[in-house]
Amino acid sequence: MGCRLSALGCREPQLASIASTPDSRHPRAKTMSALLQYEQPEPVAQKALIQLDEISKTYDSGENAVQALRGVDVAIEKGEFVAIIGPSGSGKSTLMHILGCLDTPTTGKYWLDGEDVAEMSARALARVRNQKIGFVFQTFNLLPRASILKNVELPLLYAGVGREERRDAAFKALQRVGLEKRAKHRPNELSGGQRQRVAIARALVNNPSLILADEPTGNLDQKTGSDIINIFEELAAHDETIVLVTHDPAIAARTQRRITLVDGEIVNE
Ligand code: ADP
Ligand code: MG
Repeated sequence: MGCRLSALGCREPQLASIASTPDSRHPRAKTMSALLQYEQPEPVAQKALIQLDEISKTYDSGENAVQALRGVDVAIEKGEFVAIIGPSGSGKSTLMHILGCLDTPTTGKYWLDGEDVAEMSARALARVRNQKIGFVFQTFNLLPRASILKNVELPLLYAGVGREERRDAAFKALQRVGLEKRAKHRPNELSGGQRQRVAIARALVNNPSLILADEPTGNLDQKTGSDIINIFEELAAHDETIVLVTHDPAIAARTQRRITLVDGEIVNE
């Protein structure tokens, strides 16, 4: 596991953390920090967990191009619980896809957890998704024939984590959503709200920097949806960062912060 991660380039963040803590009292500190800066010609300044600068996205569908995002600037700090709202066609899904590293912007900058991800290759983006982002979908997207424990293990399987470590982490993630007693059950033995809690456990299992939820309460009744928001609230209180898209004003009102999109632009945040 360690080798795999270093092969994927996790040395840079370590270097960045060394570079950010030079001891200024040490006589060689200045030289050291100058050297470290030389090693990193473009040091990532202290940024928010998520920082979008002037993001635009244009879809080229044949002759008529659609400008889905027009100069979006957003900074989101670790531990924030944010809703993206706005009318249909305003660019919410496009923004979610960019935040989730499923798509790249046409122009603009995106830093996620100190990494410049706006111009990464598809392969690099897949690595970022696997390591840094947990996804929760409206339709849960669980494997019906696998136990919920196995469902939660899945992102770790993709990440190459060994069996025992996978099982431990998945069990702990199920504990965080209160479903550890159901670990051996299959999704069809659970209610909709419980299935969405499994999906949240799966999103949490590899300790992501960001949890992205696309209409996570869209298939749930009001009470169950509200219970799901309680879980997100609690996770945010424990410093998880959550961004969700919702059509439901009652759900949006439960978050700490709302970002409203109209015609691809942020209005009166
Ligand atoms: P929302 O999620 O707020 O409904 P979207 O981000 O899905 O909005 O869409 C924003 C605009 O971009 C819309 O005009 C939509 O038709 C257009 N759009 C979205 N995806 C594509 C695509 N793959 N190709 C062309 N146009 C697209
Ligand atoms: Mg949409």
